[in-house]
Amino acid sequence: MIPVEEALEIVLAHTPSLPAEEVLLTEALGRVLAEDVRSDLDLPPFDRSAMDGYAVRAGDTSGAPVVLDVIGQVRAGQFPERGIEPGKAIQVMTGAPVPAGATAVQPVEPGAHIARLGTEVRAGDVVLERGLSLDPASIGVLAAVGKGRLRVGRRPEVAVLVTGDELVDVWERPGPGRIRNSNGFAVAAQARWAGAQVRELGVVPDQADKIAEAVRWGLESDVLVISGGVSEGAYDLVEPVLARFDVGLLFTKVAIKPGAPLVFGRRGDTLVFGLPGNPVSAQVTFDLFARAALLRMQGAKTVSRPVVEVELEDGVKNRSGRKAHLPASVRFEGGRLVARPLRSMGSADLVAHARANALVVIDADRTAAQAGERAPAILLGNFLERDGAPFEG
Ligand code: AMP
Ligand code: MG
Repeated sequence: MIPVEEALEIVLAHTPSLPAEEVLLTEALGRVLAEDVRSDLDLPPFDRSAMDGYAVRAGDTSGAPVVLDVIGQVRAGQFPERGIEPGKAIQVMTGAPVPAGATAVQPVEPGAHIARLGTEVRAGDVVLERGLSLDPASIGVLAAVGKGRLRVGRRPEVAVLVTGDELVDVWERPGPGRIRNSNGFAVAAQARWAGAQVRELGVVPDQADKIAEAVRWGLESDVLVISGGVSEGAYDLVEPVLARFDVGLLFTKVAIKPGAPLVFGRRGDTLVFGLPGNPVSAQVTFDLFARAALLRMQGAKTVSRPVVEVELEDGVKNRSGRKAHLPASVRFEGGRLVARPLRSMGSADLVAHARANALVVIDADRTAAQAGERAPAILLGNFLERDGAPFEG
């Protein structure tokens, strides 16, 4: 059993970079920038009025109230042909170029209100760096600096293989002893969220030959993710099947809760993750390790989710001897981040996990943390979509 940090280091050390490709700006959201982007312009590109008002020489209005002669008008998109002489004013709209000679735009309230050429960005400045995951704000920057096309890391292809005799499809009502396959859907969604393209290999029963047949296909993708069949049970067959294909196993157990049985291996440039079948274990280990690999393949600098310090609203326990990741709802209150640990029945309780917007982390050597204590928390991908308000239900 190896520590979480060491496991992540091993994963990243074995993660190849995929080549870059060119995409249109309209396709770039969520992709990872593969080049430094420089501005082709000064921003603002001209002395711009920040207000609707009158362009004036500030000296002319120092003795306000004053009467100035309004000699013209400039709208956004026009360029003034004439400057401002003493005693004159030109009406300007927000976004309009300010006429030469003007030192202020006089709105209803005082202030200069002129955004001078190049005060935000100079032509040639790097505005976005290689390795950045593109969000809507960066899409706006790309448009402003004229990048209608840009280079991004290729999307990895992820094959998702689900194992388990007990599994039925989402459309079925499970018979006695059966459950629905939730991991196949959740893990595919996580892979897509990390920018990957997903190849579904379906659900196979716990039979070595059936698993092997699917693994053969899966190894042709950039990443093969297998759900289930990696623990110590008599029908946990994933490891021996991977051995048949000469997948080099780099670890098979990580000191993490949920999710200790976690298999990671590599064959050529293909990475293989064998995730534990319990739904929360599968999702948490995917998020910490497989997601990091998928982002790194695309060239991302940041591959782990943000960690913040929270104050625990209730005590939590960790008798696992492993680093625990406990579902919590984090909110900002009274000037600090407060975490409310969520009631969870454990690593199968995917409903509790889905209510969480963060995971409180308790070190392996600690058996408990008390209410009022501070602890690190990993903010989950839904963090910005959840207000952390208590769930009433
Ligand atoms: P395993 O890792 O195969 O031993 O499975 C551990 C637990 O996770 C068992 O209770 C399984 O029934 C459950 N499980 C395995 N695969 C899935 C899946 N695809 N969706 C939901 N639960 C699963
Ligand atoms: Mg199983």
